[in-house]
Amino acid sequence: MSMSTSTTLEELAADASTCTRCRLANGRTQVVFGTGNPHADAMFIGEGPGYHEDKQGEPFVGAAGQLLTKLLGEIGLAREDVYITNCVRCRPPGNRDPLPDELEACRPYVTGTLDLVQPKVIITLGNFATRVILDRQVSITRVRGQRFEVDGRAVIPTFHPAAILHGGGEAGSQMAAIRADFELIRRIVAEPPPEPVTAGEEQLGLF
Ligand code: SF4
Repeated sequence: MSMSTSTTLEELAADASTCTRCRLANGRTQVVFGTGNPHADAMFIGEGPGYHEDKQGEPFVGAAGQLLTKLLGEIGLAREDVYITNCVRCRPPGNRDPLPDELEACRPYVTGTLDLVQPKVIITLGNFATRVILDRQVSITRVRGQRFEVDGRAVIPTFHPAAILHGGGEAGSQMAAIRADFELIRRIVAEPPPEPVTAGEEQLGLF
């Protein structure tokens, strides 16, 4: 089954599991596709798998993952309620930043996952995921906490949990900011779905 015809996350993940579209295939233990609710309202996109993720095959299992789980818990969500993935699905060597051509090579897996999960809100964690989803060279410090719309879907950029840990965790200045961003995520997830358009309103639009 090819990427373009995958109709389930399992099929897309199976396609990714043998992917050699970029050089990150060379150093991986396994492709880390994603985890969580396949019909989640909220989809979190990080940067790429680290050492533990590469070994275990699941994203966000290390210290940054524990912080993500904690922040989710504070807004009443479990990891199983949301979908969690990365913008490159194979570990960059030595945890270096993903390169532009690697991000582009893996982009179809990001859009394919979005098309299948159909989340209400996308949360981009850090610079790389934010640039991939907004398709602009933005800086996370400038855009975090703002609400964007991409293809009719809300996008909330926020800090990567690893950056929060490097900045001192609970004692750091970014912690209050990421908590505020998670509160915004909670409100969007709680929003009622858009009202269906009634026949009368459709006619008004036609005449
Ligand atoms: S990072 Fe993405 S594009 Fe590159 S080999 Fe892995 S799955 Fe394929």
